[in-house]
Formats: sequence, C-alpha cells, structure tokens
Amino acid sequence: MSSLYISCDMEGTAGVSSWKQVDPDDRHEYPIFRRLMTLEVRAAIDGAREGGARRVLVNDSHWSMRNLLFDELPDDDDLRVVSGAPKPWSMMQGLESRFDGAFFTGYHAKAGDTATLSHTYSEDVYRVSVNSTVCSEALLNAALAGSYGVPVLLITGDRTIVDESMRAMPWAVGVPVKDAIGFSAIESLTPHAARDAIRVGAREAMGRIGQARPFSFGPPPLELTIETAGVEHADFIELMPGFARIGARAVRFAADAYPALFEAFLAATRIAAAADTPA
Ligand SMILES: [Zn+2]
Repeated sequence: MSSLYISCDMEGTAGVSSWKQVDPDDRHEYPIFRRLMTLEVRAAIDGAREGGARRVLVNDSHWSMRNLLFDELPDDDDLRVVSGAPKPWSMMQGLESRFDGAFFTGYHAKAGDTATLSHTYSEDVYRVSVNSTVCSEALLNAALAGSYGVPVLLITGDRTIVDESMRAMPWAVGVPVKDAIGFSAIESLTPHAARDAIRVGAREAMGRIGQARPFSFGPPPLELTIETAGVEHADFIELMPGFARIGARAVRFAADAYPALFEAFLAATRIAAAADTPA
C-alpha cells in the first residue's frame, strides 16, 4: 500500500473563473466553490485509494488555507489534513521523503500566462525563474518534492498548467478540467464530469509510481530570479541576506540546494507583501 501527498489549490477547480469565487471573504460565491474544491480533492483521494494508496496527507494550499470542508472528506484514520496559514512550507507543508508520490489538484497557470487567474504564489511576483526556467507554482513545488525523492504523479487544473507541467514531467497523469477564454472567463467541465475525470486520472496515476521520476532543475548551483510587480517589492526583498538587487524590479538568490532556494522564495513573497501596506 502506497503513501500519498496531496497539495490542493483552488483556482484550478472546474467552474472557477473569478477571484470572488476563491476569496474567503466573499460571502456569496466562495462557499459554493470551496465545496466544489473539496469534492475534487475527495475524487482524487477516492481514485488514489482505488489505485492502491492507503495513507494520504492532504495540504490545503489556497489563500488562508482553510478551504477544505472536513466533513466532505473520507472519514478514516488513514487520511490527515493540513489546514491553516501561514505554514513554513506553504503549499508543500507536510511533504516528507516517506511519500511514494504527490498529487497537485486545482492548480492554475503561472504569472504572465494568458490564462485564468494566472499568478505564481503572489500578485507581487511578475515572473520567477530557477536557472533559465520560468516557473509555475507546480514546478516550484514539484522541485521541492523532487529534492526529497518524491515524484509528482497527477496534476489537475486548467489546461495551461496541466499541459506545461506534463512537458516538464511527462510521467505524470494530467487532468485538465477547463480551458481559459481570458483572465476571468473559462470553458469548463461541469463539477460531476470533472470529478469523474479526476477520479479516473488519480487511479491511473498511482500506477505510474514505478516509472515516475523526482523532478529537478538540475545539479547545483541553483539561481533564483524574482521579477517583482513593483519597485517597492524589490526594495523589501533585497534587505534579506543572500538576495542581490539586479534591477529596479528584480532580485537574485543563489543556493547550493533546492530546499534553501524554495524557502528563500517563500520568504521573499512574504516580505514583499509588506510593501503593499503604504508606509
Ligand atoms: Zn490558490
């Protein structure tokens, strides 16, 4: 029986087209869509169990990270749920080398893509690269899992992120649940159809454990480049030891190991947020 890690985001849920639907402060649409998110996660767990997974850890990875409705999830001792924020490793909290594989559900396109709600961790990030690769959240997170020997087996979300992720990780199963028409417009599967596809994909993904590979950007040294949305964000990030200012809206960080780079990126997004509060 296999052990599985799931990082679940929300923007890539079938039917989601607007920030309002994924904003916990929204009282009208968010309650509907957090339930649809939860049911997609449940479909992934059900499919994984059919494919041989037993112990599953789900990390709620969106916004306040308190989106999942606990009582809509499978009710057994082999499922653990990580909830709340901030968490040291954010979207990858709880990842350990003991897992046989990882699922990314509800994922979305990276900052700058012509796609729905495209961003990378923060609206303060215009573009983030590791070495020469422009990164999505999926790729940044996959590399953390990869550095612990854990391969990504499944990615669900919008077609842009699914296609891009599968080019980097061709061993994974991809389940696109919607296509982008614009930043806030989609053509989507219905929730039931999306859940059916996710469940089938999850079952198939568990069969990929033998051939799946941990993702890596390559051997060190690794170089993180963050292009920020504003000059003020770079002003804050450059204060952190290890970061060099390389442009009005750009900072760079060098690392000998990927987990240090990942942590530097998370710290940068958190300190950059301080610039959004006027002095
Ligand atoms: Zn999110």
